[in-house]
Amino acid sequence: MIKDQHGRIHKYLRISLLDRCNLRCFYCMPEEGIPLLPKSHIMTNEEIVEIAKIFAEEGVSKIRLTGGEPLIRKGVENILEGLSKLDVQLTMTTNAVVLHKHWEHLKSAGINSLNISLDSLQAEKMNRIMRRDKFDVIWNNIHEAMDRGLHVKINVVAMKGVNDDEIIDFIQWTKKKPIHVRFIEFMPFKDNNWDWDVKGISYAEIIETIESHFSKESVERLTDRPNDTSKNYRIKGAPGTFAVISTVTHPFCDTCDRIRLTADGKIKNCLFSNIETDLLTPFRKGNDIRPIIHKSIWGKHAARAGMEDFESFANPNLNQENRSMIRIGG
Ligand code: SAM
Ligand code: SF4
Repeated sequence: MIKDQHGRIHKYLRISLLDRCNLRCFYCMPEEGIPLLPKSHIMTNEEIVEIAKIFAEEGVSKIRLTGGEPLIRKGVENILEGLSKLDVQLTMTTNAVVLHKHWEHLKSAGINSLNISLDSLQAEKMNRIMRRDKFDVIWNNIHEAMDRGLHVKINVVAMKGVNDDEIIDFIQWTKKKPIHVRFIEFMPFKDNNWDWDVKGISYAEIIETIESHFSKESVERLTDRPNDTSKNYRIKGAPGTFAVISTVTHPFCDTCDRIRLTADGKIKNCLFSNIETDLLTPFRKGNDIRPIIHKSIWGKHAARAGMEDFESFANPNLNQENRSMIRIGG
């Protein structure tokens, strides 16, 4: 078991397959892109599977593939095939732009649930947010995913003045379709112009907006699963559900069981930590990486890489040290 000094057992590994993306969502990535890692520094397809296997042997039971955009990685189908042989639940977070090319790969890897990012239901606005005209293909792929029986969770980064006027529209969607909408509080990362006072919408504000539109009685609080990062709800009788991921205002670090592995093979023991532990170099030298994994996770802070209160979390001197989300993989 991979355990930290606070007694948390880590069973969930998120692997970033690459730092490249076919979109440029303004809250995640600058328009001009980011300097890419040299190819030789990136884990090969085989290395990803081999390293994941070691994590699975050490107690990891769930693996999420992310990025950048995981589905544009060359050979993603081979990675999926390799990982599907491990005794883990396999899943993915994607922007769905090229999802239609991968239905069979996902199916044969046993993936039956996908997190898909969609910050607006309005084509023009969404295209502006992601700085690419891809709304139609994403929209079609989301619906095809549902038609194919995949469980679809929609990630919405909630931002004041951007999509706060669509909170009710997203909830209306859950009344029509068996979809799970997750509003994510906007988080600070290097160079993403985070300013909570200008763009932040809190968990409390989101729920208040929903309750005042649909009435308090019609909003049902659901039981969260252990290690859930989201607070889950449903409009009574709706086929879909919704949730808020309240990293900024109500961090959920007490039950955190996540390990992040960057595309260049470095462990981040917390999304907000700027300390990384290189696994790839020792792995390439043929060294046993197990003790390195255990040591890295053991040293994890109790909450948000030590930025426990809102003031320190919102302090640019601290939060701007963090790699951008596209490099970490969310
Ligand atoms: N490209 C894929 C996608 O967009 O789904 C996977 C990688 S993306 C970095 C993973 C998730 O992080 C997405 O749902 C995205 O919306 C979220 N994300 C990126 N930057 C964020 C930020 N500043 N605050 C909150 N969520 C963010
Ligand atoms: Fe790409 Fe995902 Fe970041 Fe958007 S959120 S730029 S799709 S990695």
